[in-house]
Amino acid sequence: MNWTSPIVYPSPQGYGAGNWSDAYRKAEVMVTLMTLEEMNNVTLGVVDSSNGCVGISGSAPRLGFPGFCLHDAGNGVRNTDGVSGFASGIHIGASWNATLAYERAQFMGAEFKRKGVNVALGPVVGPIGRIAEGGRNWEAFAADPYLDGILGAQSVVGLQESVIASVKHFVAYEQETNRNPIGNSGGTVLSTSANLDDRTMHELYLWPFQDLVYAGAGCVMCSYNRINNTYACENSKAMNGLLKGELDFQGFVVSDWVGQHSGMESANAGLDMAMPTTTYWNERQLENAVNTSALNRTRLADMATRIIATWYQFGQDSALPLGAGMPPNILLPHNYTDAKDPASRPSLLQQAVEGHVLVKNVNNALPLQQPKVLSIFGYDAAQQDAYVPDGSFWQQNWEAIGLQPLQLNGIASNNPVSDPPEVMNGTLTVGGGSGSNSPAYLSSPYDAIQARAYNDGTAIFYDFVSGHPNVVTSSDACLVFINEYASEVWDRPGLSEPNSNILVSNVAASCNNTIVVIHNAGIRLVDAWIDNPNVTAAIFAHLPGQDAGRAIAQILYGDVSPSGRLPYTVAMQPSDYGNLLGPCQAHGSLSPQCHFSEGVNVDYRAFLARNVTPRYEFGYGLTYTTFNYSNLQIAINATVTAADTVVPVYTNGTTNNNGNNTAIGNGGLESLFGSVGLISASITNTGAVAAAEVAQLYLKIPTTYANASNPATRVLRGFEKLTLQPNATAQVSFNLRLKDVSIWNVTRQEWIVPSGEFSVFVGKSVLDTPLVGSFTI
Ligand code: BGC
Repeated sequence: MNWTSPIVYPSPQGYGAGNWSDAYRKAEVMVTLMTLEEMNNVTLGVVDSSNGCVGISGSAPRLGFPGFCLHDAGNGVRNTDGVSGFASGIHIGASWNATLAYERAQFMGAEFKRKGVNVALGPVVGPIGRIAEGGRNWEAFAADPYLDGILGAQSVVGLQESVIASVKHFVAYEQETNRNPIGNSGGTVLSTSANLDDRTMHELYLWPFQDLVYAGAGCVMCSYNRINNTYACENSKAMNGLLKGELDFQGFVVSDWVGQHSGMESANAGLDMAMPTTTYWNERQLENAVNTSALNRTRLADMATRIIATWYQFGQDSALPLGAGMPPNILLPHNYTDAKDPASRPSLLQQAVEGHVLVKNVNNALPLQQPKVLSIFGYDAAQQDAYVPDGSFWQQNWEAIGLQPLQLNGIASNNPVSDPPEVMNGTLTVGGGSGSNSPAYLSSPYDAIQARAYNDGTAIFYDFVSGHPNVVTSSDACLVFINEYASEVWDRPGLSEPNSNILVSNVAASCNNTIVVIHNAGIRLVDAWIDNPNVTAAIFAHLPGQDAGRAIAQILYGDVSPSGRLPYTVAMQPSDYGNLLGPCQAHGSLSPQCHFSEGVNVDYRAFLARNVTPRYEFGYGLTYTTFNYSNLQIAINATVTAADTVVPVYTNGTTNNNGNNTAIGNGGLESLFGSVGLISASITNTGAVAAAEVAQLYLKIPTTYANASNPATRVLRGFEKLTLQPNATAQVSFNLRLKDVSIWNVTRQEWIVPSGEFSVFVGKSVLDTPLVGSFTI
């Protein structure tokens, strides 16, 4: 099949839907006063070396518009001083805590604002995690559109109390391999084309973006990949049709950095701003195109209006000067801007705590009970520049890549494909690339455990360097800290770094209470050692941010019970991911093709569809107590009928074809977000300690509709995290939105509620659902 992307023209004009009305009226006044040159100027990135912003947009000084400082990213303000290291997206995904996602974003947004940033380049809900080895999966929350949508929406709301959120990367951006065009002797190899059908687009990849636009996102970043053979940043179906049409998005679309590959095509397809500079628009090409009628004037005015309206909508007209708190080089003398808020500290620690997932715990290995002797191993136990012998292999490696002795906390950007991860990372608190962060303070596990040892009178032995360390036989427990690195630019070379597996096995050979902690920037397979009886406990510690050490100590010592659950599927072996293990390759083609032939069934849906048993399923995680589920109640509104249609806003270049503006706003039809019923259950803490449970709702949606090939297996449609004291019982209730029971009908181009029986599963993970029921529509 030859995949082509339909053309959707003209680009829908922003008009001030919902609460954007005032901002649009103000923006229209300003844009009416603009010359074509000024309109052109605000659409492009300019070079400004006076600050550390990763992008600066053009201004209209005569009219008082200073442009924007755009800066990374979704895990905190990147690459500067005086900021916090927040837990990464995957860690918040593992927390399954929407309130925490909101709170984190609130504090993060305030830091961006204090640094003089207008547009924070996050959160990330694409990649979703189609392939297990995806280099950037850790920047997003979960390999599931529902969880990404809920946590991403809360992040947008929190960030936008201070700045504009730029939701990225739009859309179907699922691999780093061939993410950008590469010139070689045979010509230019284009970015990989994500080839996917309309239903997969709506029910999987577009799904979370819809929730984030509904939450009011002011900016969307188009991605590097091609979609059905047209670049995302010149894809009129994606930007005009889906985003600005169906989702009625009122903000502006910015290109990913150097993600623009054409001039008028990108403008007509709905791109509003090109970053960080452009060769297509910067020489007044847009102005000239209007003068020669190659570009419609209304499109250029719409580009400018969307940008200025977003500036007003989020109060950026009273923001600090661009990048005021971010010097271009923090190693040179500058005024230090401390953007941290002391009030954020409890939240930063809580974020760090809640993303830990305990997957094995036998022989009462955890929590630790005032150990007399503890042994600590592994390169991940301490910060990267600590405890390295002079002249060592590690030190030489740092020098070889030009690392300075004076560094920000965080991670050194290394190459996960060619460098063994243990070479430089130390305690891994965040992944690499533009989603990285550089906290002013960082707590390593070793530091935090030393503090405990002082309280308990414990003797500590450690070796962070050897792959085959000596083990003191009197050790009550041996803690092995390893990590699994991932970074933007590269997809991962594997899911289970071999040297760290050898280290675990070597320690376990001499220690019958070996507890493994993995700071993992994505899926990490553990079958190399998980069944070893001497490995008594294992924790996926993900990417906790600055409080990594204090958080793991709280869990190891039982101050808190682990409350994270897996936001992805851990297989027994790489081949269990089938076609979704690694990236699509170019195979010598100048136009690499990637067929998303699995449709909507990625991650746990793919394991269910192919009937493969995972090692640890999506949603899984242990804690220090046990929970009982009972009393499933299903109450679906009688007014919901099969084939309740939800008409898209935009068809064939005419806006609002259903003639009912009041029901339309950011995110598309309002009714999609209305409640259609409640499903509830009772949960009891049947163990001895307080702990949080993450109750999960999955549906099996009937497939009595057209285009039902590859029907979704089971889909997450609700979750609630609640803390229960021993013997306490509480009710969880899941609100089902119309969206949650609908499917995309390709022929009719509508969301419809299918008729038939919906199976209901409530429980602790996608496979462990003690409560089963159904409802029929
Ligand atoms: C990344 C974006 C990032 C931008 C600016 C790009 O390479 O894909 O996520 O926001 O750079 O640093």
